[in-house]
Amino acid sequence: MTAETTPPIATREHTVEGFVREFLRELNFGQGVDLTRASVNDKYLAMARTVRHYLMTRWLSTLRSQAKLQAKSVAYLSAEFLLGRQLDNALLASGLEDIVKEGLASLGIDLEELRQAEIEPGLGNGGLGRLAACFIDSLATMNVPSIGYGIRYEYGIFKQTFVDGWQVEKPDDWLRLGSPWEFPHPEAAVKVGFGGHVEQYQDDDGVVKRRWVPGWSVLGVPYNYMVPGYDAGRVNTLRLWSARATRAFDLEIFNSGDYAEAVRAQTFAENISKVLYPEDSTPQGKELRLQQQYFFVACSIKDFVDQVLPADFDLHKLPDRIVFQLNDTHPVIAVPELMRVLVDEKGWEWDEAWAVTKQCFAYTCHTLLPEALEVWPVELLGRLLPRHLEIIYRINDEFLAELRVAYPNDELRVRRMSIIAEYPVRAVRMAYLATVAGTKVNGVAELHSQLLRDKVLDDFAAYWPDKFTNVTNGVTPRRFVKLSNPGLSGLITEAIGDGWVTDLDQLKGLEPLADDAEFRRRFREIKYANKQRLAGVLAERDNIVVNPDTLFDVMVKRLHEYKRQTLKLLHIVSLYEKITTGELAIGDVTPRTFAFGAKAAPGYVMAKQIIGLINAVGRTINDDPALEGRLRVAFPANYNVTLAETLIPAADLSEQISLAGKEASGTGNMKFMLNGALTIGTDDGANVEIRQLVGDENFFLFGLTEPQVAEVVERGYHPSAYYETNLDLRNALDLIASGAFSGGDRAVFEPIVSNLLNEDRFLALADFQAYVDAQARVDAAYADTDDWTRRAVLNVARGGFFSSDRSMRDYIERIWHTYPVAPEA
Ligand SMILES: *Cc1c(COP(=O)(O)O)cnc(C)c1O
Repeated sequence: MTAETTPPIATREHTVEGFVREFLRELNFGQGVDLTRASVNDKYLAMARTVRHYLMTRWLSTLRSQAKLQAKSVAYLSAEFLLGRQLDNALLASGLEDIVKEGLASLGIDLEELRQAEIEPGLGNGGLGRLAACFIDSLATMNVPSIGYGIRYEYGIFKQTFVDGWQVEKPDDWLRLGSPWEFPHPEAAVKVGFGGHVEQYQDDDGVVKRRWVPGWSVLGVPYNYMVPGYDAGRVNTLRLWSARATRAFDLEIFNSGDYAEAVRAQTFAENISKVLYPEDSTPQGKELRLQQQYFFVACSIKDFVDQVLPADFDLHKLPDRIVFQLNDTHPVIAVPELMRVLVDEKGWEWDEAWAVTKQCFAYTCHTLLPEALEVWPVELLGRLLPRHLEIIYRINDEFLAELRVAYPNDELRVRRMSIIAEYPVRAVRMAYLATVAGTKVNGVAELHSQLLRDKVLDDFAAYWPDKFTNVTNGVTPRRFVKLSNPGLSGLITEAIGDGWVTDLDQLKGLEPLADDAEFRRRFREIKYANKQRLAGVLAERDNIVVNPDTLFDVMVKRLHEYKRQTLKLLHIVSLYEKITTGELAIGDVTPRTFAFGAKAAPGYVMAKQIIGLINAVGRTINDDPALEGRLRVAFPANYNVTLAETLIPAADLSEQISLAGKEASGTGNMKFMLNGALTIGTDDGANVEIRQLVGDENFFLFGLTEPQVAEVVERGYHPSAYYETNLDLRNALDLIASGAFSGGDRAVFEPIVSNLLNEDRFLALADFQAYVDAQARVDAAYADTDDWTRRAVLNVARGGFFSSDRSMRDYIERIWHTYPVAPEA
C-alpha cells in the first residue's frame, strides 16, 4: 500500500470534554446503562474501555510499523505474567490521569472507587511472573519490538483466606465481572496435538521420514492485551492462550450418540488453561502441567511462524527476526517443537533445522534449588508428545557424540551432561535441554549466575564458557514507584525533574539531598502518610489495626522454608518471651509493626504450618494489652500485587533473609529499596548488589555467606547444638513447643519445632543469633530518626540500577541484539 492510500487510524480528543463524551458513550452504548443507574462495575468497565480507546492509536501504529519494518523482536515465553491491576497503568501510559480525574469529577464519579473495583489478573505465583510483567512494561517503554506469550488461566493464583489463622484457598474467579482489557480472537485459533504415535512414511522423492499422528487435539484461542509503554512509547502485545475443544473432536463423539462423552471431552480439553499451578519453586511433575507448557509454546510458535511473519518469509532467516526468551524451564518444550515444525512440517534436513533452532532461543534460569529444576519422566513425555521425545533423544545423541570428541577419556562427564537422566527414573532434564539449545544462559543476579556456573551447570560452563552470562533482575519504576508511591514520586520530581521515570539512574541526583534537613523532613512526612494509608487499607480490608508511629518491619514474599519466615518469627517470639519474663522492659523495646504477606502452595504442608504459627503468635501478641501500640503482628491475607503497592511504600525495614545461596535474585528487595526502606538481609541474590550500591553502613547484613553455608553443610549441620548453646533461641523454641500459642496444645506446632531441631534444611538456627544482633543494630539506628531518614534517602538515590529498563538493556546487549523502533507518529 502506498503512502497516499494508507488508511488513517482513528484518534481521540485529549481534552476533558472529549474524555467525558467517550466515557458516556461507552457507558450508554457499550454497557447499555444510563449514568444514573450505572453500578460501580458498569462505570469501571466503561472507564477501562474508554482508556483502552485512547491507547488504541498507538497500538495500531505499533502493529502497522512492525508489519512494515519486520524489525527483530523478542518473544518472551512465560507460563506466568503477574500483571497487577491494569487501569492505573493504562491511565499513566496514556497520559490521561489529569483529564480523567477532572472529567469523572464533573460527572460526580470517584476515580478511586473505580480503581478499587478492578480485580487484578493473578496469572502468576510470585517473583518469576511479576518479573515477566515488569520486563514487558520496560520493553514497551523503551520502544523495543516484543511480544509476550503465555496462558490465559481461567483461575489465577488462589485467593488466600485465613480460618482460625490457617490458610484456606478459594478459587480466583478473576473473570467473573468481565475483563475489559483483553481482545479475544477466536477466528485466529490454532490447533495443538497431543498423544498418539509417530509413523514412518516415504515422501514424494522416496525419502523415509517420520511424522506425528496426534491422538487428540485442542484449540488455542489468542487473547491479546495491550502492553502500553510510558509516555508515548510503543504499545506492544501480550498474547495469552485459552484452550477450547476442537469441533472435530467433540462432533465425532457426539455423532456416535454419546452426548455425555462429548461434553466430557470438551471439558477435558478446556481444563488445559483452567488453572494456574500454585507451586512456586517446587514443580509437582503433573501431566496437566506439561500439557499447559506444550499448549502455550506450540500455539505461540505456530502463531509466530504462520501469523506474525509474512507469508513469504524465509525461515532460514528466523534468528534475524526473533529470539525466544525462555523464562525458566517451563517453555523449554518449545525447542523440540520448533525442530518438529521445521523438519516434519517444512521438510527441512535435520542439520539445517538444528542450525536455525539453536540460534533462536535463550534461557533464563531462576533457581538454585535442585527440587525446582524441572525433570519430565520419559514415560510421561513420550506418551503425551512422542515425536518430541524422539527429537530430544536425537538432540541428546548428537550432543553426547560431540562431547565424546571433546572429552575422549571422560565418559563419566559425558553421562553427567546427558539431557536424559537415568535415575531415579529415566527423565528429561529441561534445564540441560535449554542450555544445549540456547545461545545464552543467564542467571538473575551476580551471585546466582556465579553459582550457576560453579555448581548447577558447571560442566556446561566449562564446555561453553561464553554461553553463560548474568542479567540482574529489575522492577519497573512506573508501577512500583510512580503509581504506588505518588507522594515520593512528587517529591523526587520536584527535586530532580521527571526524567527518572524512564531513566532511573537519575535518582543519583537525590544524593546531595540526603544531607538536606528540609528534604529529609518532607521525605519522612511522605513515609508517614504512606503508613497511614496502609493503616487505612489494613483496617478496611483485614480488620487489622496498626500504629503508624511504629517501625514498619515488612516481610512479604511467597512462603517458603528457604526464604526463612521462621527466622523472622523466632526473632518476634524471642522478643515476646523476654518481655513476658521481665528480662526486657516494654519501654526499652523499639515499637514495631511486624507485617507479613505470604501465600503457601496448597500442598506444601510445612509452609501452611508456618502460616498457622505466624497467625497464632500474632494473635497472642496483638491480644496482650501490655503491648498495645508498641508491638503488633499484621498478616493481611492474600498478598498480591495490589497489596504490595500499598505495603511496600509504607515500609521502614525490608526483610530479605533467605539462606545465602538459595534466593536467585529477589525483586521484592528492589521495590523496598526504591521506596526508601532499609534492608536487613543476608549476602544472597541481589542483596549483594544492593549492599554494594547503598554501602555497608546503610544495609543491615547478617548471617553465613554462601561458602560458609557450604562448609557447614559439608561438615554436617546439627541444629540442636544451637538450641543447646543459645539460651534465647532455646527459650523461644521452648515457648512455641509449650503450646503457648496454641491454647496449651503442644501437638499443633510440634512439626515446626521438631523440623527446626532435627533438620532445619535452611539453617535458621545457625543464623538466629546473627539475625537478632542485626535487629539490635536496626533498633539503634532507628532511634536516630533523622539519620535513619538520611539512609533511607540514600537507598532511593542509589537504587536506580534496579530498574527493569536496565535489565532490558542488559538482555539486549548481551543476549538479544535487538534495536528500539519507535511507533509511527
Ligand atoms: C515482587 C513480588 C514478589 C517477589 O518477591 P520476592 O521478595 O522477590 O520473593 C512476589 N509477589 C508479589 C505480589 C510481588 O509483587
